[in-house]
Amino acid sequence: MIYRLLPHRIIPKLALICQALVCLTPIQRGAGKLTLSWLLFILLSPLVSADEPNNLNTTFEELESGVTLSSDDLKAKLEYLKANITLADLKDYLRLQRVLCWSTDAYDNNERAKGLALAQKQLNAEVIKQSPETLADIKLCRAWFYQVGGQVDLALKEYNQVIAQAYQLESPRLIADARGLRGAIYSFQGNYALALEDLYSAQHLYDGLNLAFWSRYNLAEIATSYRRFGDPQTAYEYYAKLEAKFIESGDLESANGMVTEMAIALEELGENEAALEKYQQSYRYWQLEKDELAQSFVGINLAGTLIKLGRLDEALKYLEASHNHVMPTDEAFYSFMMLFRAKIEMLRGRPNAAIPLIEEAKSAFLRVKNSRGLIQLYTLESQIFAELSQWEQAYRSLEHYNRLHSELDIKLQTHRTTEMQTRFNTKQVESENLLLLETQQIKEHELQILQQNRYLQFTVIFLAIIVIIIISFFAYKQAQKSKLLSVLALTDHLTQLANRRHAYTVGEQSFSDNHDVMALILFDADHFKKINDNFGHDLGDKVLTSLANISSSLMRKSDLVGRVGGEEFLVILPHTNLEQATEIAERLVDSIAMADLSGTAQDLTITISAGVAAREQDKSFSELLQRADKGLYLAKSSGRNCVKIG
Ligand code: GH3
Ligand code: MG
Ligand code: MG
Repeated sequence: MIYRLLPHRIIPKLALICQALVCLTPIQRGAGKLTLSWLLFILLSPLVSADEPNNLNTTFEELESGVTLSSDDLKAKLEYLKANITLADLKDYLRLQRVLCWSTDAYDNNERAKGLALAQKQLNAEVIKQSPETLADIKLCRAWFYQVGGQVDLALKEYNQVIAQAYQLESPRLIADARGLRGAIYSFQGNYALALEDLYSAQHLYDGLNLAFWSRYNLAEIATSYRRFGDPQTAYEYYAKLEAKFIESGDLESANGMVTEMAIALEELGENEAALEKYQQSYRYWQLEKDELAQSFVGINLAGTLIKLGRLDEALKYLEASHNHVMPTDEAFYSFMMLFRAKIEMLRGRPNAAIPLIEEAKSAFLRVKNSRGLIQLYTLESQIFAELSQWEQAYRSLEHYNRLHSELDIKLQTHRTTEMQTRFNTKQVESENLLLLETQQIKEHELQILQQNRYLQFTVIFLAIIVIIIISFFAYKQAQKSKLLSVLALTDHLTQLANRRHAYTVGEQSFSDNHDVMALILFDADHFKKINDNFGHDLGDKVLTSLANISSSLMRKSDLVGRVGGEEFLVILPHTNLEQATEIAERLVDSIAMADLSGTAQDLTITISAGVAAREQDKSFSELLQRADKGLYLAKSSGRNCVKIG
């Protein structure tokens, strides 16, 4: 099983983050309760097996990426690199020097002293002096040792120098690392504005460099900064953001780590119920992962919150379940487990039963020198003895408490933690919060504008669609109208046949399209004047319409009948020879002569005369038409009601 998010003692850059994110949490909270940091710390070495290092580059990448390793694994990998890299491979050699420095466990006094000596040696080496970037990075590493060793001013001075060099070298990674570290110190010292400036810059760079791991941990540092400055609410929001990022990257275990952080932030906010929910979520996560140890650690946290809520039975259940997995060697957790059990006994009015539990907790706290835990413990112990009227022992416990308390105060001072000052420096906090709020408001405002722009876009698109629909509608109507107009322009109003102009156009078109045969029939009503005279003009019109209908009904679809004069009509017959045309004309003449027009007027008969011409040597349509006209003239002069060829 591989545990991630175990920065402590692995790569000190990580350890710094551990310090910022979780390892200092017990001091921050002042409650001395269990936190993720301890969970991480305890989970460390025994569970992670050492992998055989494979090749140089992947080993380097692994060591630099922030992936957490057990100390055995780390050692094996470093040995592997040392054994396979010589001064001849200058690039790898320099890379190794950086890794060697950064892999020092700065929290161990001896190791740190060794690390400092190594860094000093490295900084004096000619080969390193030749590489400004390596030099700056090792300087940064040494400054980090200074910081952990309590020489914060010296560390800050060195960070400033490295940052200046990093900007000269234009090395974004180095700038990010150095500003991240300096930001963490500022944050630790209570220098809110400077801390955030550094951390935000580092964040921007890590994001830009796609260093997801460092980006997230820097963000966690930002979150912790907020918590330090008495803004667990903002810290909570950041943890939530980080949780989402971890989920996004598929790192559910780290995401769950953030859930635990959120629980701690909620506890600080006094929202114990909500904190409980988060702890339970984390608890369930480990349950599903079937990691009973991790589950037990969260269970102990859970019990602490339940005690605060007065739900002692439930708290005890969690503690009992944890008891099966948490060994006395897991001091950090074991101690709190015992302390919480003692608290429950005390709250239940059984001070005697609390005493052996207190003793167990005490020895565990002492082994890991957890002063904060001990302070809690001595407070409880003095209450127990007071309850039992053992005044001397109660007094002694209080004395222990006082001694530890002042020790812690001194420790805080030597660490130059101005957190307390900052807490009292309400003006600063207020103005910074105001600034934050303003930034937040600006962001919200930007978001609003963005939203409004989006609405505006939708509105414009919507209106554009409506306008397009309206325009299309009118365009369609217009097209219909012009189509109608053009139809009207081509049609004879009385008979609905093609008018003269159209008939001639079609005739000409047909003449030029069809180089083979085509024919025309030109016919004219006989003695039409008489019909008008005898029956009136209106009836004359009706007769003309009848003539149009009869002739149209006799023709093919490809033929065209047009009214080319008052009572004169032209039939255009494409692909038709003279014989066929004559036959059609005769049929037409006969049909009209025999047509029953009694519906129009009684005793009304009408005949027509027709001239036929089929295309021969005609050069144009009008020549052909003239011949048809000649045929018509012949028909008229031959007594009418007949067909003649022109
Ligand atoms: P023909 O057999 O020689 O063709 O004798 P016609 O009487 O038919 O010939 P004419 O050219 O002398 O007279 C044509 C008549 O057709 C004259 C005119 O009043 C009539 N006419 C022309 N257009 C229309 C019309 O649109 N409606 C009506 N009712 N009569 C029309
Ligand atoms: Mg006539
Ligand atoms: Mg006529």
